[in-house]
Amino acid sequence: MASKTERDPLLPRNESAPEISANGAPKTKTSEEISYPHENSRYLDEEWIDDDEEQDVRSISSTAAAKSAINTIGSIFTIVVFISLAITMLGPYIRERVPTGPGRTIEERVSKILDGTPLIDGHNDLAIFIRGMYQNKIHTTEFKDKFENGGMEYDVDLPRLRSGQVGGAFWSAFVVCPENASEDFSDENYATAVSHTLSQIDLIQRLQAEYPTNFTSATTSLSTSLTNFHSKKSLISPISIEGLHQVPQSAPLSTLRLYYSLGVRAATLTWNCHNAFADAALIYSQGKSTPAPYHRGGLTPAGRAVIQEMNRLGMLVDISHTSYWTQKAVLSNKTSAAPVIFSHSSAFALCPHPRNVHDDILDLVKETKSLVMINFTPDFISCLPPPNSTVLPEFYAKNNTLHQVARHVVYVGERIGYDYVGFGSDFDGMGELTPEGLDGVDKFPDLVGELLKMGVSDKDAAKVVGGNLLRVWETAEAIAKSLQHKDLQEGEDEVSGW
Ligand SMILES: [Zn+2]
Repeated sequence: MASKTERDPLLPRNESAPEISANGAPKTKTSEEISYPHENSRYLDEEWIDDDEEQDVRSISSTAAAKSAINTIGSIFTIVVFISLAITMLGPYIRERVPTGPGRTIEERVSKILDGTPLIDGHNDLAIFIRGMYQNKIHTTEFKDKFENGGMEYDVDLPRLRSGQVGGAFWSAFVVCPENASEDFSDENYATAVSHTLSQIDLIQRLQAEYPTNFTSATTSLSTSLTNFHSKKSLISPISIEGLHQVPQSAPLSTLRLYYSLGVRAATLTWNCHNAFADAALIYSQGKSTPAPYHRGGLTPAGRAVIQEMNRLGMLVDISHTSYWTQKAVLSNKTSAAPVIFSHSSAFALCPHPRNVHDDILDLVKETKSLVMINFTPDFISCLPPPNSTVLPEFYAKNNTLHQVARHVVYVGERIGYDYVGFGSDFDGMGELTPEGLDGVDKFPDLVGELLKMGVSDKDAAKVVGGNLLRVWETAEAIAKSLQHKDLQEGEDEVSGW
């Protein structure tokens, strides 16, 4: 089974340990602290204000106005009577209304959020799962039965996508790094990764063509994809590649452009190997991933050229899997003209794993209006600090829960704001072990509900599920248009010979 794209670095899982509280663990908001901002936004505008909520606002305003008038005429008696009446009439109502905000059950609020804003998962590994488990055969009775009627071995099938009110995903055309990828950049060494990538892109396209009412095709424009979501709940379905080992190292730009034309809308700069363009956080070799020592300081000049071409195309730059130094180079030097994403990474402060995002990088994410999409993989959400940076942290089973995933979301939201955090599940890529309560795409509503229970407002939750990703994607597209408008020509590869 080749589908465990994240959990190859397996560690002992049976040791008991004290509860991790972590530095900077988010506090849970009290009901008094919960606010329901009403400013307009493209996806969340007045939908988020119930008529009866507006009535509340008007009632409270008129109360203040009345108080002022009464002061003017100086009638103490009237003030006393008025205040008593106001407390008697409005008090219980306000107390009852504030904690639940829109006055509905958690389930109703979640359903409304997911109906109004597409939940777009930053990273779904269905394609490599199908390669490993079904050899890319999607017309067999066995595959069709499980995919259409439920019961797929891992985390994704059509019934669970529907019941999870999923609005879309970046479907990863993942392939593994070539052996010795970090040293041997020859076309010969990378040829298999490129050809397998084409197989995986083709697989995702065939799946979308086989189930056209479920998926909007990857090549469809974002605006049409959004229309399809709102009119028929069709999944917004861009393709992503997971590392620039998936392009020829000698001539990356032509292949990237062709991938874009096939529906690839995001590219991770590395998977678990360094490549000619950027340094990775982990190195994969002989079936195992280990922390990568400091390498070249992040990006190479060729890496900067690739990012410029991605900006020109409108392809999202994804820095999950990259080293701390690559992240720093991309974000602090504003190498990317467009905001970037971590398509599937969690918070380092809660689980100090090299795949997770350090606090100072989170601050740069905010500064560049970028986005961290929280990964649900057990190893990344719940771990014990390693003794040193040469070994991976130890998995900590006790916190392997849906609540712990929500804590990562809330941690990032509280540190840099809910405009910069989303979901990047890694479903179908995390192996057999999943967080308790979060074992498939049908459990997304439970995760959104958990955020609401922890005090995240409905409006912020809508940003987390998809509003933020749409903001970044639209910005990247607008920047691409402006670069093309300024006649920035496409980058040309250096080629030689016949
Ligand atoms: Zn990954």
